[in-house]
Amino acid sequence: MDVTIEEYARKQKKLHPKVIALLGPFFEFPLEKVRVRILRWNAIPSGRRGGRTPAFVLGPLIFFAQGVLNAPGYHLGNTFDLSTPEGISTLAHEIYHVGQWYRGRIRHLFRCIMGVFRSLLKDGILWAHSSIPLELEAMEFADGVLAYFSEHEESLRLFEYLR
Ligand SMILES: [Zn+2]
Repeated sequence: MDVTIEEYARKQKKLHPKVIALLGPFFEFPLEKVRVRILRWNAIPSGRRGGRTPAFVLGPLIFFAQGVLNAPGYHLGNTFDLSTPEGISTLAHEIYHVGQWYRGRIRHLFRCIMGVFRSLLKDGILWAHSSIPLELEAMEFADGVLAYFSEHEESLRLFEYLR
């Protein structure tokens, strides 16, 4: 029996090789550099509206609440069901943030701080995706991934067997 995507991430603290094989070509940095943590929580406190999130990125680390990565359905409005174009593109969005960090750590930190100010001024919350340039970039990137896999859904079927 193959180890599930979540179990692999929990034990190896990395993305599953099947995820790396599928999403690697979209990125300019090796996805082996992405660090993953599965938390023993059902949701993660965040600066988003609603105050909780199923996943969170900090530098090279993507944190997931437990029972979210490659699980069917939605968690706090997001899906990480990798057998769906929406789920795989949401994961690509999070990985994109890791790439932003590797591209320039100091610049990225600065952009995060400026993002919080913009978000507070425009939306009155810490982390409004629609007000933060590095989020808009990640959303545009994820839209491209979504469009690709909407045309190639059959390539995602393997994830149904890894949960
Ligand atoms: Zn984001």
